[in-house]
Amino acid sequence: MKIRADDYFLKVEDITQDYLAAHNVRGIILDIDNTIMIDGETQMTASVSAWFSCIGLPVCLLSNGKECRVKMIADALGLRYISRAKKPFKGGYIKGAALLGIADIKNIAVIGDQMLSDIWGGKRAGCYTIKVEPIDPTADPITVKVKRGLEKWVTKESVYHNIKK
Ligand SMILES: [Mg+2]
Repeated sequence: MKIRADDYFLKVEDITQDYLAAHNVRGIILDIDNTIMIDGETQMTASVSAWFSCIGLPVCLLSNGKECRVKMIADALGLRYISRAKKPFKGGYIKGAALLGIADIKNIAVIGDQMLSDIWGGKRAGCYTIKVEPIDPTADPITVKVKRGLEKWVTKESVYHNIKK
């Protein structure tokens, strides 16, 4: 088994409106923890906030986290959301596409920091997948640390060689 994302960026702020338009992206399904904020925190950095305000596409947050935390973050940003998403199962992504009103799931970009949940699930659903580096991997819970070791093995080293900086 070898999983590859469609593209790799260092951080969400590096993904431009022009890039997304060039890949026919009409909506975004976005991970929360370690993609737009440090795991366990409730605030984005100023640069991620700035990215949100200029990206110009509908966004749905998709998280395996609890309803209360995901709802609080989504409400503060005025975004749609799905909590307890059971990534990497594809059901949450299909629900997200429906919430965004996008009929063809190929027109959705999935952005996340974990190969074995965000990217694998997005690929199974048929989305365009973009892997970013975790904002702060030291803040990962132990379960995620174990998964990151496994994902390096599953994805081989190629994943880490094409990051756009
Ligand atoms: Mg994450």
